[in-house]
Amino acid sequence: MKIHLRSLTVLFAALAFGSWWVLAGDTPTPSNGDTDRVVNASNNAGNSGDDKDSADKQNDEAGNSSEQKDSDEKYVPKTKRELRRILTPIQFNVTQNEGTEPAFRNRYWDNKQQGIYRCIVCDQDLFTSETKYRSGTGWPSFYAPISDKKIGTRKDWHLIYERTEVHCSRCNSHLGHVFSDGPQPTGKRYCMNSASLKFTETGKEASRSETRSEPAK
Ligand SMILES: [Zn+2]
Repeated sequence: MKIHLRSLTVLFAALAFGSWWVLAGDTPTPSNGDTDRVVNASNNAGNSGDDKDSADKQNDEAGNSSEQKDSDEKYVPKTKRELRRILTPIQFNVTQNEGTEPAFRNRYWDNKQQGIYRCIVCDQDLFTSETKYRSGTGWPSFYAPISDKKIGTRKDWHLIYERTEVHCSRCNSHLGHVFSDGPQPTGKRYCMNSASLKFTETGKEASRSETRSEPAK
């Protein structure tokens, strides 16, 4: 019986050792768990990568909107109240209410100086003296704008016949009308109101005649 007990003890010890061995053998198991965790972590990393992508996307969108903001910052539309303050009544009436100034009694109809005509409201370049011609109408007339991108047009029926209204593409201020009885090369007559324009005389350094008169090298 004593032997049996000893054997039992040995057996018990062996079992205990076996258990320890099994436990020791299982030791990698937690590391498998760790691996799982690592996999999960990498999944999470993947997820957070997606999050990052979407975050980047949002940043891009934010970037785009900030770009949009930048381009808007170049010209911040003025309120009507502000415009009333900075424009003369005729300038306000022409640019904001599509009014028309009197013929021959306006600033630039007979202006023969070389230079640029800009929008009175937003300062965008609109016309140059190079396309200005004597139309005999009493309003400054041009056969072409600096670029078609600088102006916008729409049909209007303010009079009994259809006309093509012309406005600044940047601030939407009314400038005048365009007709098809102008000189070549365009055959157009951009009949503008001086009140919607701001003339800047070209400096000598920027004038073409000055460039041409440079001595040949
Ligand atoms: Zn403008």
